[in-house]
Parts: sequence; structure tokens; C-alpha cells
Amino acid sequence: MIKVENLTKIYKSKGSFECKALDGVSFVLDDKGFVFVIGKSGSGKSTLLNMLGALDNITSGDVIVDGNSLSSLKNSQFDDYRNNNIGFIFQDFHLIDSLTVRRNVELSLDLQNKKDSGEVDDALKKVGLDGYADRYPRELSGGQKQRVAIARAIVKNPKVVLADEPTGNLDTKTSKQIISLLKQLSKEILIVVVSHNLADAHNNADRIIELADGKILSDTSEISSYKDEVSICNDTVNLTYMRNLTADEKVLIEKALFNGEIKHINQLDGKFKKTVEPQYNEKQVPL
Ligand code: ADP
Ligand code: MG
Repeated sequence: MIKVENLTKIYKSKGSFECKALDGVSFVLDDKGFVFVIGKSGSGKSTLLNMLGALDNITSGDVIVDGNSLSSLKNSQFDDYRNNNIGFIFQDFHLIDSLTVRRNVELSLDLQNKKDSGEVDDALKKVGLDGYADRYPRELSGGQKQRVAIARAIVKNPKVVLADEPTGNLDTKTSKQIISLLKQLSKEILIVVVSHNLADAHNNADRIIELADGKILSDTSEISSYKDEVSICNDTVNLTYMRNLTADEKVLIEKALFNGEIKHINQLDGKFKKTVEPQYNEKQVPL
């Protein structure tokens, strides 16, 4: 589990200019699930992800990962923490063009001083890239490149995958495929994704943390009993929020309209409610 405690990040530039990118943020993350971090540009989303992944140091507060405080790690321990616990996925893929798909993924294991004993092929299979191991990045589509990046993130069996706008460079259809792949992986592992796409968040997230000016504006989780269904009941059609109708649902509604069965439209919301934070287990597990 990850406990973020009163986390604050101040960037100091030359001169006396200071920017408080995160301002006293606190929450607890479970070991699994699909967490979306949303918010306007400049609200602190990337900064939060960088703090979770120890890509930059903390100004005050702490991130505690399975009982281990990141603020007390020595500089030399940051690389080990990242290499062994965190998978990163970026908007622009960050693949090495001169290496094959296999070597790009294998690099994650190299950094852990591990030899590949089938993990690379397993990871490529998981992301739907069976048979692509010998290609080079330039021979792949954007969506396939992001799949390689996902394979590289998961091959080391990390505690958490952090994805900063992973669909920012992809078309709508490919974005949907990448989000649904990440959602599938989040059944086994914690995935934290920064996104601008509110519909993606609403349709896929287990939990949505919204930032504004470095603070948490809202923190909501999906209600498990929520049914994402269109229904017609007592001359009212109940539509769900932020979801496109399927072809079958369109036919159903058109028919009911034609027969005069629909007099009212009701938009269901309430898919999410305020997060009840998981109980943080203080037991320390060595990283
Ligand atoms: P987001 O990802 O939500 O767009 P960021 O976390 O990148 O926002 O940035 C939050 C704030 O911190 C912004 O005001 C940004 O200008 C500032 N910031 C981010 N990185 C740096 C940096 N390296 N140096 C100075 N200011 C920074
Ligand atoms: Mg950002």
C-alpha cells in the first residue's frame, strides 16, 4: 500500500521565484485498482506521479510505500526503488529506437540485474504483441509503441505502474484499447494514470482523484453496485452519464420513442461516491 502524507512540492527557480506544485496532499492507495488523477494543466498531476515514483525529491510530507518512507531514502537508493518497484509509462513512449522490441523490454530486467527467463515473452503476450519481438520501434504504430512501453513497465513485476497521459498521442480508438489494456492489468496491480479525458476516467476508473492548484479537489470511488445500463421505466428513459449508447440501446430507445413510450429523460449519475480510504497497514515490507 502507498500512503501519501501531507505531500508538498515546491519548485525553486533561480532568483526567488517559488512554485508550490503540490500543497499538503494526503491519501492512501490500495495494492490493486485503476486510479485516475485528473485536473487542469498545471494542477500538479505530473508532479504527484513523479513523487510517487521517486523521480524527484519531496519538499515536505512523505510517501510511504509498504512501510518504507521515500523521504528518508538515500540518493543511491532511489534508483533501486524505481527499478524494482515502479513501472513508468509516458505520453511519448520513451522507447529506444535503435533497439528491438525485445531489447527495449529486456532493459527493465537489465536494470534489476536479472536475466530474461521468459518474462519478456510473457509481458509481450500480455499486451497483445506476440510475434513483434524482433521489430524496431519505427516499424510500429503509436498504439503498438505504447504497448511495448507497457510491457517494459510490467515485465519487472512492479508494485505500481505510473502512467502520465499515456493516450495523449493516440487517436480515440487506439486510446480506448490502451485504456482497456491498463484496466485489465489493474485487476492484478495498482495502476495510477494521469489523464485529461473525463469520459475515460468516468467509464474506467475505480477511483478518481481530482487536483486543482496542487490540492485535492475531490476523491471519489466507483460504487460497486452501480449498473451501467440504459433502462426504460414508467415512460422515462434512464441514461447513464458520460457513456455513448451501444447500437442495441439506440434501437431500444428509437423503438420506444416511436411507440410513444418515452415522455421523460433521466440522467443517472452517482456512479462515484466519496472515497472511503483503505485501512493503511503499518507493517513494513522491505522494498
Ligand atoms: P500538470 O501535470 O497537472 O499539468 P505539473 O505537475 O507539471 O502539472 O506542474 C504543476 C506546477 O508546477 C505548474 O505550475 C508547473 O509550472 C510547475 N512546475 C512543474 N515542474 C516544474 C519544474 N521542474 N520547475 C519549476 N516549476 C515546475
Ligand atoms: Mg503533466
